[in-house]
Amino acid sequence: MEARLERLERQCRWYRNLFALLLIGLVVAALLTIGCSVSGGSGNDAVDTTDPSVTTETPTTPTEPEPAPPSPALRNVILMIGDGMGPEHVKAGGYFVDGGPGMLVFEGFPYIGEVTTASADAAITDSAAAATAMATGQKVNNGVISLALPGDGTELQTALEIASAAGKSTGLVTTTVITHATPAAFAAHTESRGNSDEIAMDYFNQTHPEVLFGGGSADLYPANTEANGYTVVTDASELLALDPAAVTRVSGQFGIGHLPYVFDDQTGILPSLPQMTAVALAILERDPDGFFLLVEGGRIDHAGHANHIERNVRETAAFADAVTVARTWAEGRDDTLILVTADHETGGLVVVSGNGAGAAPTVTWSTQGHTAVNVAIYAWGNNASLISGTMDNTDLFGALNSWQEQPNGARLKKANFAPYYPYLDNGKYDLTSLEGAGLRGAYLEGAAGNRNGKGLTLQPGP
Ligand SMILES: [Zn+2]
Repeated sequence: MEARLERLERQCRWYRNLFALLLIGLVVAALLTIGCSVSGGSGNDAVDTTDPSVTTETPTTPTEPEPAPPSPALRNVILMIGDGMGPEHVKAGGYFVDGGPGMLVFEGFPYIGEVTTASADAAITDSAAAATAMATGQKVNNGVISLALPGDGTELQTALEIASAAGKSTGLVTTTVITHATPAAFAAHTESRGNSDEIAMDYFNQTHPEVLFGGGSADLYPANTEANGYTVVTDASELLALDPAAVTRVSGQFGIGHLPYVFDDQTGILPSLPQMTAVALAILERDPDGFFLLVEGGRIDHAGHANHIERNVRETAAFADAVTVARTWAEGRDDTLILVTADHETGGLVVVSGNGAGAAPTVTWSTQGHTAVNVAIYAWGNNASLISGTMDNTDLFGALNSWQEQPNGARLKKANFAPYYPYLDNGKYDLTSLEGAGLRGAYLEGAAGNRNGKGLTLQPGP
């Protein structure tokens, strides 16, 4: 009997002790919870892991990741598109400008890749689908301007709209009419590139870029443009006389229809692509939030359709001069990304031989339409290392919006080199032989931007 009582008493003591321990545990847990929520509310989300009671008494929670180290922020993105400017167009332009290949300014950019261009419904894209792919990251049918087609037809948000929503200024500059397919895909939404009236309405009512420079008319006229808050200029002298501090939105409407080919009109009455680019930058750089600017050499494509090499090389040379303007503007800055590429190739151009600087090279053409040839991409500046290897045109959307990304984010872990440096020591355009030799992803090591690859050594890829 006494033994039973003693056992019972022992059991009671044991339960009492357990209860007391549980109570203490609960109190401690409650205190810790209050402490955590208080410190969380005050904005200090770091858990003090040096106190052993925290790690032993509370369920283990994953610690916060280390904050990203500070790095220069990307603020300005300049996308420059040579419409129809395939690899051989670049080469032909180099022969015209410098007497040999690999000499255009953007060919010296440190990061170079190539871009596949097929649209949703065709192996051979048009400008509308290709520009939509870059602007929105989505494949659409040929002719479509930034709508989900195929799909439910909803509007696809563009890189220009994303930049604008973040408070950045935006601009479109082209040698075609401003409502043409390539600029339209960045700032309008319609099922057909021919709906220039709807494109103009989207510029006015939805996206209102600060800068709209291109050929005149095609549903933008001084009257309706001024009514929508734009200062309108119509020739080079008016453009160059603009005071960037005195304007908010500017529409340059130069001539009637597309700007004339450089080959046909060098009167200086209408502005050149480099001049338009310089003024656009002078206006956009005033925004402390930065800007997104699209510059298109739009008539490289037209000269390609016409298989007219004299016009073609001069359009490419003017485009390269516009790149020089942007590159010079960005000199010494660490907050700017410049991407130079094409939407597709036009004409099936092949350079046969050069005829010296200042003369168009001897060439052959195989079509008056577009081709499925991959185009090249050249990158300079902040986040330029996002460009490497063979990319799809939809991949460029990420690069255009990379000002939103963490500097040490996953995208930046991509290869930090130019796997396809297009010109080897012999000056040959030699992407395929690199791949054929099992050197896909190979790169040339040495001073970045060394023209013609001279002095560089070929290294196997990772
Ligand atoms: Zn075309």
